[in-house]
Amino acid sequence: MPPRNERMRPGSPRAAPRLRRLRRTPALRNLVSETPSIDPGRLVYPLFVTLRGPAVAAPGLPAMARRDVRGTVEEVLRVSAQGVRAVMLFGVPSRKDPLGKGAWDPQGPVPRAIHALRRALPDLVIMADVCLCEYTDHGHCGVLRGSRVDNDRTLPLLARAAVTYVDAGADVVAPSAMMDHQVHAVREALDSRGFEEAMVLAYAAKFASWLYGPFRDAAGSRPSFGDRRSYQMDPRNAREALRELEQDEAEGADALMVKPALPNLDVLARARRRFEVPLAAYQVSGEYAMIKAAAAQGWLEESRVVPEILTSIQRAGADFILSYFAGELPLPAEETAA
Ligand SMILES: [Zn+2]
Repeated sequence: MPPRNERMRPGSPRAAPRLRRLRRTPALRNLVSETPSIDPGRLVYPLFVTLRGPAVAAPGLPAMARRDVRGTVEEVLRVSAQGVRAVMLFGVPSRKDPLGKGAWDPQGPVPRAIHALRRALPDLVIMADVCLCEYTDHGHCGVLRGSRVDNDRTLPLLARAAVTYVDAGADVVAPSAMMDHQVHAVREALDSRGFEEAMVLAYAAKFASWLYGPFRDAAGSRPSFGDRRSYQMDPRNAREALRELEQDEAEGADALMVKPALPNLDVLARARRRFEVPLAAYQVSGEYAMIKAAAAQGWLEESRVVPEILTSIQRAGADFILSYFAGELPLPAEETAA
């Protein structure tokens, strides 16, 4: 054995830290883990609500099901028994028009689901997505002028929808149309009607992503022409994403979202360093579908992969995560993983 001073000499291989010491046993690993295990209380379950008709699910993608109001309540009662305490509601209306009037119909699927959920689960955090694309016959997120989405004519319509959902009992409204100044328009409309306690979660950095495919089929919101690249973020831009987040915070957003989650962990991590407001990440339908498809082939072990990915999204900086896997709990604890 070399003399003690020899062993501790800086730069000698023996003096270098042995990081494996931190990983020797499960209890040690838990003790030094930097990111908490996935807590169902930090997940938000996205749901698609229709007024009538049986639950319709895409094959292999159970969380993409559309449910009527009663089916929605039953589903939320089921997941709340697993510890899920928050939902995000999307409406699938029976009729559409150029303005998306169904978005602010108090008898539409979302306000009715909010009423029913509030009665069944008084403590549930009810979030409502605020956009027009599910309700417009052209499938774009705002009203059109020619083939362009008209930003400023869309703002009062988004505000009107937000007020309708809060009036029905939503705790949180989440403008997702990526119109400039939409957070300001929603905040102002809420405050002017005495809804100053309602929270605004801004889909602030929402990228134009090809991973939204299964969602658009579930929500029936595929654009009938063109795409959304003139209003959603260019996936090549992270600095611009930070400007979007900054602007939504300045307009009064209470929490900021990055969407999709996994392709944008860099944006999430940069946002975490820059902002003190709560950050959300949306693990979108395509992220969900990729795991489901690979698991169905036997190529991935879903019960192991899902906690790994959700943990990485938390580690990057998300305080809470919108995930379709919230409907498929319980997830195994990390320490049971191989
Ligand atoms: Zn939209």
